[in-house]
Amino acid sequence: MSTSSDPTVQPVPAAVVQQVDAADVTLSNPKRAVIALGSNLGNRLETLQGAVDALEDTPGLRVKAVSPVYETQPWGVEPQSQPTYFNAVVLVKTTLPPSSLLERSHAIEEAFQRVRDERFGPRTLDVDILAYQDVRSDDPRLTLPHPRAHERAFVLVPWHDVEPGAEVPGHGAVAELLAAVGRSGVVPRTDLELRLPE
Ligand code: ADP
Ligand code: MG
Repeated sequence: MSTSSDPTVQPVPAAVVQQVDAADVTLSNPKRAVIALGSNLGNRLETLQGAVDALEDTPGLRVKAVSPVYETQPWGVEPQSQPTYFNAVVLVKTTLPPSSLLERSHAIEEAFQRVRDERFGPRTLDVDILAYQDVRSDDPRLTLPHPRAHERAFVLVPWHDVEPGAEVPGHGAVAELLAAVGRSGVVPRTDLELRLPE
């Protein structure tokens, strides 16, 4: 029996596949999410750009804004014991629920060969979800907003760049939190730039 005569194996026409993809992005009320990227191993700029591009390549997700690049000192370790970080913040619109966005973030980290060994260890790529709409969650697998976002200058500085009027749900305005924390140790790398995907 040839496959074409078997009614259970009819191919899905390309036009239908395209329609479904388009519906994914346009029809189902996309939500706003804010994502932090950090890298302190390897080619840090290339890795951050790769993460931005991988986010844009995600079905049901569009990257709307990319912050400038900042160079920062690693947290929780002896000074000078690890390379500095490059940090940036990305604003996205997505139809993915928070759990799928986290899964995708982990997949992108893995694509850059991040090894999870020691806490605060150096990493080629860290992808953290800072906020998803006004969702608040204390689930340790996905805490929203990110539990340390409101007190970290390396997060607040680039977040303020892409969304000057933003609120951290439960903590207040990004601008006010940033004023309280200050910009010390967060060095703008104006010689470097991340591209917003076309
Ligand atoms: P950190 O980013 O805190 O330095 P990891 O990237 O190794 O450390 O993340 C540890 C765990 O934090 C992940 O397995 C993830 O499930 C969890 N997590 C909780 N909330 C979030 C969030 N908002 N964004 C990303 N990961 C989160
Ligand atoms: Mg992380």
